[in-house]
Amino acid sequence: MEKIYDVVIIGGGPAGLSAALYATRAKLTTIMIEKEKTGGQITSTTEVANYPGSIENATGDSLSNRMVEQCKEFGAELQKDEVQEVKLEGEIKEVVGKQQTYKARSIIVATGASPRYLDVPGEKEFTGKGVSYCATCDADFFTGLEIFVIGGGDSAVEEALLLTKFARKVTIVHRRDEFKAAKSIQERAFKNPKIDIIWDTVIEEIKGEGLVQSIKMKNLKTDEVTEYKANEDEGTFGIFVFVGYLPETQLFNGILDMDGAHYIKTDENMNTNIPGVFAAGDCRVKTLRQVVTAVSDGAIAAIQAEKYIENTFDDQ
Ligand code: NAP
Repeated sequence: MEKIYDVVIIGGGPAGLSAALYATRAKLTTIMIEKEKTGGQITSTTEVANYPGSIENATGDSLSNRMVEQCKEFGAELQKDEVQEVKLEGEIKEVVGKQQTYKARSIIVATGASPRYLDVPGEKEFTGKGVSYCATCDADFFTGLEIFVIGGGDSAVEEALLLTKFARKVTIVHRRDEFKAAKSIQERAFKNPKIDIIWDTVIEEIKGEGLVQSIKMKNLKTDEVTEYKANEDEGTFGIFVFVGYLPETQLFNGILDMDGAHYIKTDENMNTNIPGVFAAGDCRVKTLRQVVTAVSDGAIAAIQAEKYIENTFDDQ
C-alpha cells in the first residue's frame, strides 16, 4: 500500500528541522524534503551569536548539523528532492517531487527565502567569477584582495566584518546614509580599520573579462557616476551582495494566501488558509526572521499538525 505520512515538511532549514523534531517526538510519521543542502540559509552564515546557548561552535554549519543529527535520532526521514507541484485540497495531500510523489495528512511549508539580486548588468555573468552571495563559501578566494560588500542590513555589515579576515580592504556600499543593521554590529564595523563605507550609492554595472575587473557606482544624492577598477597587480576583486532575501513561495501562488511581497499568511498557530497546511519560518509573514523564531514556528506547526490529525482522521 502506498505510504501516507502524517507530516510532509517542505524545506530543510531551521524551521523544517525543528518541525521534524517535534513531529517525530509526537510519534507522527514524518518526512522532510529539501532540494539543496539541509540546514538552509544558516549553513552559509559564519557566526550565529544570537541563538540562545550558542556560544561554542556557534557557526551556522555546526548548529544545523546538530539539528540534523537530532532529527535523525528521533526517526525523521530526510529526503533530497525538488518539489514541483503541490495538491493541497482534500484530506490526503500530495507533494509531487522530481523523484517521487509524497502523500500526507498534513503539510508544513518551511521553504525559507533566498538571496535577492541587485539586478544590474554584469551581475549574472560574473556570479562565481567575482560576484558572490555567501561569504563563508567564497571569502577564501579573495584572500589579500579587495572586496566590495553591497547592502546595509545585518547580513551586509556582519559579513563585511568576516570578510576583513581575508581581504586586504573591505568597502561597504550602501544606498542610504545610515545602516539598517543592529547598532552593536554597526559599531564593530565603524571601529574596524579595514572597512571603508561609501554612503548613498548604488551599483550600476559590473564589468570584466573572465573575472570582475570594474564596478560602476552612482551616488544617489549627487548623481555622480564613478567607476572603480581593479588594482593592476591584483587584476580582480570581489563583490559580495547582501541586499535581503525573497520568499521561496512560488509553488504556492494562487493556493495559499500571501501578502504583497509573497510571504505566506498564517495565524499565530501557523495555520494557513487551508486546513492541515501550516507554514513556518522565513517564508511566512512575520516581523523577525531569525533562527530562534524559525525554530519556534517549526515547533508550533508540528504540534498543531498533531492536533489537526487527531481531530480530522478517525483512525488516530
Ligand atoms: P535586510 O535586513 O532586508 O537588509 C537589506 C539591505 O539591503 C538594506 O540595507 C537595504 O537598504 C539594502 N537593499 C535592498 N535592496 C537593495 C538594492 N536593490 N540595492 C542596494 N541595496 C539594497 O536583509 P539582511 O541584512 O539579509 O537580513 C535579513 C534578515 O535576517 C533580517 O531580519 C536580519 O535582522 C536577519 N539577520 C540577522 C542577523 C543577526 O542577527 N546576526 C544576521 C543576518 C541577518 P535599505 O536599508 O535602504 O532598505
